[in-house]
Amino acid sequence: MGREGELWAWALCGARWRARASLRLRPSPRPSPSPSPSRQHFSTSRRQSTSGGGSTNSHHHQYHHQQSQSQSGSRSGFGSHVVLKRWLSRALSFGKQRVGGIPYFPVVLGFAASGCLGTGLLVVFADDHNTSHNPPGISNTAGTGKKKVIVLGTGWGGMSFLKNLDSTLYDVRVVSPRNYFVFTPLLPSVTSGSVEARSIVEPIRRIIRSKGKHVQFHEAECIKIDAAKKVVICKDVSKVRPKGKEEFALQYDYLVVAVGATTNTFGTKGVREYCHFLKEVYDAEKIKESIQNCFESASLPHLNKEDRQKLLSFVVVGGGPTGVEFAAELHDLIYDDLLNLYPHLHNDVKITLVQSGDHILNTYDERISKYAEQKFTREGIHVKTGCRVLGVQDGAIDFKIKSSGQLVNLPYGMIVWSTGIGTRPVVSDFMNQIGQSDRRVLATDEWLRIKNCHGTFGIGDCASIEQRRIVEDVSYLFKLADKSNSGSLTIEEFVEVMEQVRQRYPQIDIYMERQHMRGVLGLLADAVKDGNRGSMQLDIENFKQAISKVDSQMKSMPATAQVAAQQGEYLAHCFNHMAAEVHDNIAPEGPMRIRGKGRHRFQPFQYRHLGQFAPLGGEKAAYELPGDWVSIGRSTQWLWYSVYASKQVSWRTRTLVVFDWTKKMFFGRDSSRID
Ligand SMILES: Cc1cc2nc3c(=O)[nH]c(=O)nc-3n(C[C@H](O)[C@H](O)[C@H](O)COP(=O)(O)OP(=O)(O)OC[C@H]3O[C@@H](n4cnc5c(N)ncnc54)[C@H](O)[C@@H]3O)c2cc1C
Repeated sequence: MGREGELWAWALCGARWRARASLRLRPSPRPSPSPSPSRQHFSTSRRQSTSGGGSTNSHHHQYHHQQSQSQSGSRSGFGSHVVLKRWLSRALSFGKQRVGGIPYFPVVLGFAASGCLGTGLLVVFADDHNTSHNPPGISNTAGTGKKKVIVLGTGWGGMSFLKNLDSTLYDVRVVSPRNYFVFTPLLPSVTSGSVEARSIVEPIRRIIRSKGKHVQFHEAECIKIDAAKKVVICKDVSKVRPKGKEEFALQYDYLVVAVGATTNTFGTKGVREYCHFLKEVYDAEKIKESIQNCFESASLPHLNKEDRQKLLSFVVVGGGPTGVEFAAELHDLIYDDLLNLYPHLHNDVKITLVQSGDHILNTYDERISKYAEQKFTREGIHVKTGCRVLGVQDGAIDFKIKSSGQLVNLPYGMIVWSTGIGTRPVVSDFMNQIGQSDRRVLATDEWLRIKNCHGTFGIGDCASIEQRRIVEDVSYLFKLADKSNSGSLTIEEFVEVMEQVRQRYPQIDIYMERQHMRGVLGLLADAVKDGNRGSMQLDIENFKQAISKVDSQMKSMPATAQVAAQQGEYLAHCFNHMAAEVHDNIAPEGPMRIRGKGRHRFQPFQYRHLGQFAPLGGEKAAYELPGDWVSIGRSTQWLWYSVYASKQVSWRTRTLVVFDWTKKMFFGRDSSRID
């Protein structure tokens, strides 16, 4: 079976697909950037000063729409794909029905048998059947005798935590203004129509129910964390909320903060007013609509060449993975599909990628970064590296080329801003309360406990681990090692103490791996130069010299789904272990304490990097594997398809995503603009 066949088989394996889902895909309260002079109405009506991504005081202007999955199908679908979708829907409902006289069940079973071979990650969660309503004020969850756990956020971190948590051990509530999970890596594909928005989202309640766990979900936004009282204040973000009952409070024993981040504008003027962000599903849909607006407006008969070129000038700010992937998707959409429909606009299109660093994809291997630059340049994407954006106005962006000091004013029809992550207001406020106001994200220790705030944990984009530096503990470690109290260490004593503390300082192993060292003795290479190490004695200075280099391997983790999901999983296991410890008197399993007695309860969190993809358009992608491995080209694009199909959150979304890709291959992308 070919790769495509395999993907189909995966998609069809197993699950039920119910035709109706209860998602709310909300447009951002942030103003819609104006795509063109003639489409001003698109941007101004919901203009606000707060950031996008469901920020605190946004809901007054939110435009909710609730559509069934079947409505979504008819909204976007034409002809055969709708029929096929319906067939799949019925086929996946197993059993009773028949296709052309053949019962569905054996058909699906056949697919399932082959599809199971390629099974990927299936993330399914349990629902809560207790839907008691909280009165305004402090909600009463007492009576169960269980500790109250509140999870803020239903993104990668929050959902991974829920998936792995034994919810029978705690009284668990989830609070999020988004009642669905989004598979963010496919958001750029939504902007171009390669994938439908509803194919990459899954309702939280469905996810929770499918595993039969005991979790309550509240669609609300946390507007304040009161660390002193151990209470979170939440706000109903729906339009139908009863007057005077907008807010409610929930008490917690443990709080998991997984609210993600906003886009960082670095305070650049005009960005919030005129730029699109790419963080949420509604951002992607607005971008898609805006591209189509630009092409339709540019086709109007009364415009001159200058107007057309301005409308068809697309600017992407940010040469990181999201910006690059979006630029590639945009290029494919325009050159594979739109220019077939608007051939008269061929010479007026321009895509510009503005990057402040010297290279795009500069967190990737140099070979990938170079390949991407060359590919983009060859395909006519203008890559402007080493540029600092000075400001954005309606219809033009100003930037400075750092090397020459030259100022550039570039007109645009649509601009997308994709540079780094910023802090959500609720997190900033919380950081002020706990003395972390000088930071961009919450600081946690290696066990993901938020510093200076007992009982709270931070995972995903809203937090970062402040790893303990080994040099801070030099004298403690030296004392620990110097059992004879002689003031110097033998080689054996050095080896013994380093073996003991390796778990506590993960940077030791990373350093040794990077330096190709076989054992901790290798750390002495610089400190002890003579050949006779056996008789060597280390004083505290030698000791410091030997271990201080390992701290150079301490890097903050990237803000990725991979990190967030691993942290959620790790934290859930800690919670499970914590509850078991109370009931079954299980001994701590972590490393020894350096400054205290006994052991830590758990192992510190350790990130396992599984590599990273960079789709580059034209059915080519790059993949950087751990170590020094790099893979670029068409086969890598197929690997990307396979991995992202397998990582879908449910069989429903997996089916839809594979279906969308197949539809794109046969029929191209849809360019209808449906508001
Ligand atoms: C376009 C795009 C492409 C990406 N591609 C990749 C990729 O290919 N690979 C990869 O590893 N990473 C990728 N990422 C990064 C990845 O999506 C993030 O790192 C990941 O989503 C972080 O997970 P999280 O749980 O911290 O936050 P999120 O997934 O952003 O979830 C945050 C949750 O908190 C909720 N929330 C917000 N405010 C509040 C509040 N006040 N109260 C309660 N809940 C709140 C939100 O509604 C949401 O449910 C991409 C990101 C984007 C935007």
